[in-house]
Amino acid sequence: MLDNLILNKKSIESIYKTIREFHEKYLKQFDVKLPKLYDLQGNFTKDALVLVYLAYDYPNTRKVSKEELTKFVRSYYPNTNDVQQARHLGAQAGWWIVAGGRDNIVLRIERGSYQLYTLEQPYPGFKKGHRITETDTWGKIKEKYNYRCATCGSQENKPHFHWPATKTTLQKAHMDPNKPLVAGNLIPQCQKCNRGDRNRWVYDNKGRVIKLADANFVRNFDKVVREKIYRILYAEFEGEKLNLKKN
Ligand SMILES: [Zn+2]
Repeated sequence: MLDNLILNKKSIESIYKTIREFHEKYLKQFDVKLPKLYDLQGNFTKDALVLVYLAYDYPNTRKVSKEELTKFVRSYYPNTNDVQQARHLGAQAGWWIVAGGRDNIVLRIERGSYQLYTLEQPYPGFKKGHRITETDTWGKIKEKYNYRCATCGSQENKPHFHWPATKTTLQKAHMDPNKPLVAGNLIPQCQKCNRGDRNRWVYDNKGRVIKLADANFVRNFDKVVREKIYRILYAEFEGEKLNLKKN
């Protein structure tokens, strides 16, 4: 791996200018977010520093380790811990930054390394994005999911993935059943995934269970797990008897 790049203010501004041009031409239309170069105090933002470092010599980018990125950001922010920006700029902000690891199929780079793949396309899947805004209609939401169930992927009006004799219908389903069923808390689910017992769960926008929505379901857990939960809660509440509000 090469030594750390030394980038002065002028080169940072010039690389940022290139990024901004590509963003304007190719990425803005997909809502990829361009980080500001300067914050209100006139300092470079960390996001911009990371993006600039990765875009050095574009399109001849190279892989950069997290340590190297951290070192670079520290030259402006000496107290920075591990730099997480590269991962966030990728999957969340939409820049096609490959993060090393076995799931990555685009470039062969090892875990803990990053490489900017292109400035001409957003991160794969970012176009669909599943980023639902509060003004999205049900039709728009289904379109963002390619007319598929967020959880199992079965396609509307096609045979169900697991039950081929059943025609898939898509229903409005809560992400968090304790919140109202409106855009922002709504995913399309097929009639099989959107069943009564789903009210136990909180889903993310990829239709994956991320939390328990109904505390009573803890009774179904194995004893080992219940004991662990008990220990966690006992420690959190320091064994005090809770004045429980009914809710
Ligand atoms: Zn489903």
